[in-house]
Amino acid sequence: MNIAIHPVPPAERRAKPTDESNLGFGKIFSDHMFTMEWSAGKGWHDAAIGKYGPIAFEPATIVFHYGQTIFEGLKAYRTKSGDINLFRPDRNCARFNISASRLDMPNMEPDFMLQAIGMLLDMDRDWVPKSYETSLYIRPFMIATEPYLGLKSSSSFLFFIITGPVGAYYPEGFNPVKIQVCEKYSRAGPGGLGSVKTAANYAASLLAEKEANQAGFTQVLWLDASERKYLEEVGSMNIFFKIAGTVITPPLTGTTLDGITRSSAIELLKTWNIPVEERRISIDEVLGAHTEGKLDEMFGTGTAAVISPVGLLHYQGRDYSIPAVEGEPLAQRLFEQLMGMQYGLKPDPLGWIVPLDSLIERPLAAATAR
Ligand SMILES: *Cc1c(COP(=O)(O)O)cnc(C)c1O
Repeated sequence: MNIAIHPVPPAERRAKPTDESNLGFGKIFSDHMFTMEWSAGKGWHDAAIGKYGPIAFEPATIVFHYGQTIFEGLKAYRTKSGDINLFRPDRNCARFNISASRLDMPNMEPDFMLQAIGMLLDMDRDWVPKSYETSLYIRPFMIATEPYLGLKSSSSFLFFIITGPVGAYYPEGFNPVKIQVCEKYSRAGPGGLGSVKTAANYAASLLAEKEANQAGFTQVLWLDASERKYLEEVGSMNIFFKIAGTVITPPLTGTTLDGITRSSAIELLKTWNIPVEERRISIDEVLGAHTEGKLDEMFGTGTAAVISPVGLLHYQGRDYSIPAVEGEPLAQRLFEQLMGMQYGLKPDPLGWIVPLDSLIERPLAAATAR
């Protein structure tokens, strides 16, 4: 399928941020966006890159009422030599289709999605910031567009890719965050939507996060919905514990997201010969390890913040602080390894880096309908 290109005339281009130390996260958007429509019987059509801006929808549009929508999040990194790198973007494309299937939305040829990302980034190259730790955040998403108040899957969808320059996710930077174990709400139940990137999960988390913030914590740590006993995720990050030298992270049982940073961290730990276990871990086990002085480290993983060390855990009215380890913490080592690869400062033996230029040269694959 052809992608129609409508470059924004220079006079209508948006002002680029001048201060890269103050980009924040998700507030600034680049000049262009990619859009493509899907309709029953016709499949994907009308792929285009044009000006980023508002679009009108009928108030009855399904996405506003029933939340049939999914998204992805990845980043483009500027290397010292000025090249632009992506990190395992094929995984985001594959996960997008997994999310689409769960929400009864159409799949997309992963190579085509990658191609669309490549073409869009090529047009907005100048929007990729230059400083270390900054990047261009890429947000592909899909919404149900049929105007209909009956409860059913939409017969039409719109796929977008928007981008924008971002700085560090947490204003604290690479400093330990304070986490509240959430006892009042749950995020996802068995058979639900916990393993996919869809709006409902985040809507379900907003009040919990607000209450945690008001109580002085940065994020919430979710327990499983059935027993309120096993640890699941922290905010929108996967969670890792280092207990007596072994790294433990909850398994992918359908209620947690299959994070790309999570799987990359697991693979790196294995290459470093650090024992890592994917298994259920209860809050009692973690607090028991803490009491015995065996809870060495705790950290979250995700594209937005990369690695986020946890310095304090709050549960049932008590604070459990996690003292800094002697020497280099594992969280720091992972952070520097991942960032080093992303910014082209460290070798990439696992083949995770995809230079933007390699996507642009790739021949266009046809987008296919489900
Ligand atoms: C996106 C996300 C993650 C992290 O996934 P990455 O692929 O590492 O960015 C973890 N948990 C939730 C709920 C998420 O939405």
